Amino acid sequence: MQQVFTVSEARLQEMKNSYQTSSVNPPAGAVFRAHKNGVTITGYRSGKVMFQGGDIAKELTRWHLSSTTGSTSGKKSKQPTNSLSLPANFASLSVAGSDEVGTGSYFGPLTVAATYVDATNVDRVTALGIQDSKKLTDPQIIKMAKELLTFIPYHVVNLMPPRYNELMKRYNQAELKALCHNLALQKLLTKIEPQKPDAILVDQFVAPNTYFRYLKKQQMVVSENIFFRVRAEQIHVSVAAASIIARYVSLKAMDELTAEAGMTLPIGANSAIDQIAAKLIRQGQDLGQYAKLHFQNTQKAEKIANE
Ligand code: MN
Repeated sequence: MQQVFTVSEARLQEMKNSYQTSSVNPPAGAVFRAHKNGVTITGYRSGKVMFQGGDIAKELTRWHLSSTTGSTSGKKSKQPTNSLSLPANFASLSVAGSDEVGTGSYFGPLTVAATYVDATNVDRVTALGIQDSKKLTDPQIIKMAKELLTFIPYHVVNLMPPRYNELMKRYNQAELKALCHNLALQKLLTKIEPQKPDAILVDQFVAPNTYFRYLKKQQMVVSENIFFRVRAEQIHVSVAAASIIARYVSLKAMDELTAEAGMTLPIGANSAIDQIAAKLIRQGQDLGQYAKLHFQNTQKAEKIANE
């Protein structure tokens, strides 16, 4: 059996990543070829993916491709690009979700959390009322996070400012976020083994093809059954739970940094923040200990401090 599908650039990259361990030399015009479970999968630059072999059904299911929508090889495919639509009843599936906090705040860490909310926990997590995380107060976040941590598998990647600043010498911020999401998800998936989520949902911050481009040099790329959506916390509670846990870890980190600095370090990047940063400089403190130095606030604070 042989079938050809047309997929998006992002999906092609996901497939390439996913089949990395089974890959063989691709033929001319192809970006990858892999042999897996008796099936040969070949992805072409054009976005065409060919499945050949005895039982291709399993590999097709994995990519939400149906044997009725593919075209037989040789003919030009008239199928629309696979739109990566979410599986049916997505909200009630067992999903691993990830979200981050701190990217827009001068002080404090970049925190990425991934959680796994299986189908049996969806109602319990929903009942906590976590889905409107932007409207929640800090004490509410803390209470909910503490509850979630008792029964939800999770992994947090928390980059405190010194480490963040170090990594920002090598990566741009979106790239660093991609690395952190991938790492958090990878660690989470290992923790929940042998369970496997029905899907993975990332709160989208860049286009999926950019996300996978950022991960090109990584040994392990979580790419199977992964979906990207903006406002993903409204699509599955696993992302809402990840957001709560990330905010909780970030709040604790801010408390620690505040204690260390001997003055309140607020969240944000406005001009009031510049004044506080200037005060730290005047005290001879190392800003890199508390803040994301690549923000413009650094220059502004230096200017104020030298006035
Ligand atoms: Mn987000």
